Amino acid sequence: PRHRDTRVLRDYIRTIPDFPKPGILFRDVTTLFADARGFRMAVDQLLTPYAGEPIDKVVGLEARGFILGGAVAHQLSVGFVPIRKKGKLPGAVVSQAYALEYGEAVVEIHDDALKPGERVLIVDDLLATGGTAAAGIELCERLGAEVIGCAFVIDLPELGGRALLEELGYDVHALTV
Ligand code: AMP
Repeated sequence: PRHRDTRVLRDYIRTIPDFPKPGILFRDVTTLFADARGFRMAVDQLLTPYAGEPIDKVVGLEARGFILGGAVAHQLSVGFVPIRKKGKLPGAVVSQAYALEYGEAVVEIHDDALKPGERVLIVDDLLATGGTAAAGIELCERLGAEVIGCAFVIDLPELGGRALLEELGYDVHALTV
């Protein structure tokens, strides 16, 4: 019937050329988040491979990982922990630097946000080089937590992030390329 909505997750993501600089194809998930059906689809699909697996905390990477990770944590009825850019968290933190195309960035987690042995799922919107996710994994592990998976809406495999994380032995789950 004509009224049936046949859109798939990909259809909700908008690509904006030359943002934030020339040559970059920015994958804009705000159009996905703004649509009730699209947003639910994304949250549900992020969790599909982990059905039945114990997860103690969801860790979200700033900033779009907060939107997704918060919803994923709520769906699982577990707590949410943010990993933020340097200087944003008010309490005592653990910091991790990682390389960017030019220079470096630093991300932080509250030093009491995860307990040793807790099983965490890391969530972000997009996996590119894997640098951000690898730094996030490092922070979780420095608190003694176990990263049971890294879930992304979009994977850009040509940038090597999936290969890097899988090489390190982590489970990578992405909904679309
Ligand atoms: P990376 O550390 O290289 O894997 O980059 C991943 C981070 O940068 C994620 O937090 C993404 O939100 C952001 N990002 C990188 N490339 C893009 C892109 N083409 N479109 C949208 N966000 C991107």
